[in-house]
Amino acid sequence: MKLLATTLAVCSLASGVEAQQRVAPPDMQAITPPLATYTDDVLFGDVWKRTELGPRDRSLVTVAALIAGGYTQQMTGHFNRALENGVKPGEIAAVITHLAFYAGWPRAVSAIGVAKEVFEKRGITTDKLALGPSELLAVDQASDAPRAAAVEAQMGSTAPALARYTNDVLFGDLWRRPDLAPRDRSLVTITALIAVGQVDQLPFHLDKGMTNSLTRTEVSETITHLAFYAGWPRAVSAVPVAKKVFEARSTIKGSMILEILRQGSQPTIKGSPDNFIGSVSVDQRFQRSDPARVGGGIVTFQPGARTAWHTHPLGQTLIVTSGTGWVQLEGGPVEEIRTGDVIFIPPRTRHWHGATAITPMSHVAIAEALDGKSVDWMEQVQGEQYRRPPN
Ligand code: MN
Repeated sequence: MKLLATTLAVCSLASGVEAQQRVAPPDMQAITPPLATYTDDVLFGDVWKRTELGPRDRSLVTVAALIAGGYTQQMTGHFNRALENGVKPGEIAAVITHLAFYAGWPRAVSAIGVAKEVFEKRGITTDKLALGPSELLAVDQASDAPRAAAVEAQMGSTAPALARYTNDVLFGDLWRRPDLAPRDRSLVTITALIAVGQVDQLPFHLDKGMTNSLTRTEVSETITHLAFYAGWPRAVSAVPVAKKVFEARSTIKGSMILEILRQGSQPTIKGSPDNFIGSVSVDQRFQRSDPARVGGGIVTFQPGARTAWHTHPLGQTLIVTSGTGWVQLEGGPVEEIRTGDVIFIPPRTRHWHGATAITPMSHVAIAEALDGKSVDWMEQVQGEQYRRPPN
């Protein structure tokens, strides 16, 4: 709360002084000025910029929440935003089809008209919607057979046709369609369940989503994002459900399951302009669950790109995997770091790291969290601080 109040105060000041670009429409600014401030400073100035969930995922979640809730008025803006954030037109179409099953045919049908208009205005023709392979994705028999058996046991005698559609059409066909990745199907399904306040199926879909390589952080951030688009009560009701699923999975994983985060299974996240200067991308982000506290990822800086000044409560280990970069502890010299170097950043010490002005650099960054937090961000590294070391 203290953090939010600070953010608000800082942003209100900034919007007054620098006249930053406002997302809140004029009517909102005129009739509900506080809501306009929350919209500009909290929702778009803070929530949408949080790196725990990338802009493409936030758009998928928002679009799914609008479709599931039947909010056609807000769809035009968010369909456009989704396309700008890297959601493909065919993926928007696939989300609509997917949500016919999870929010009902009428909700899906209401979204089609909006999508058609948005696509037409952007010159997206219908032949561009169905790119890519058409064969259904393979079924993982080991996990699907128990699921199908559970459906049969739960509904087979009471609603046999529903059991058949569930197994043959919903899981046997829709979930296997290649026009939306299984991870993204999970993300929009979880969103729809939370958005319509239907938590009964949530444990199954949270677990399935994490098997489909959604991370715990992404799930937490989806719930947080949905507080704004589906209301606090629905988000808050999802929290204990997610907690149970996280605990169940970490118990099982702690004892016996090998996890492999496959290369490319997560979307690449762009470094937020709040915390980085220049072009920075983050791949293979991970965070081990309690009682473990280690987390990290692979960070790639293009020439000239660097972090803002920041500290890590328990320090940080950097392993340079390619290129040449610079690192500096406050008050110390700028040091050059090269492929294979391992760098230890001490706890609670202001520092920055990044590429050199003319070469890119990638490093694995590993930090342990203290009270759930592994980094504190500060101001940007200005031009006169970002410089070549002597010799
Ligand atoms: Mn650092």
